[in-house]
Amino acid sequence: MQKFFTKEDDGLIQDWKKYRVFCNPPTTRGQVGKWARKAYEASQAGALVVLLVPSRTGAKWFLDWVKSKADELLFLRGRLKFGNAENSASFDSAIAIYGKRDRRSLLICQHCGDFFLAQRADAKFCSNACRQAAYDYRAKCKK
Ligand SMILES: [Zn+2]
Repeated sequence: MQKFFTKEDDGLIQDWKKYRVFCNPPTTRGQVGKWARKAYEASQAGALVVLLVPSRTGAKWFLDWVKSKADELLFLRGRLKFGNAENSASFDSAIAIYGKRDRRSLLICQHCGDFFLAQRADAKFCSNACRQAAYDYRAKCKK
């Protein structure tokens, strides 16, 4: 069952229980840190939270509630564009995961660019097909 908290519900005051939560918090000044803290606290109570954040790596909220608290942190290449928006976001983004119970790492395939879960944190490709395609491509480039 899917459930949505809207701006009117104010997700910050809701109980996230043991839900699997995807959260794209408001990026207005002073907001993201509150949501990152909520994500961390909810994960301590059993939720699994995937939080999209601006990658403001020098900001206090980022260091306190994302870098040091997220179980997984993934920096996205390029800038996101939402829905039918004409322009991309004016900042880089990252995905922070809180409450990860499995040891696999969420990575981006260096061949096809898709997300994949890997046993090894240094894995480069989502599949043998992508690994092979990448090596074939490199082999061609050397000729
Ligand atoms: Zn791939």
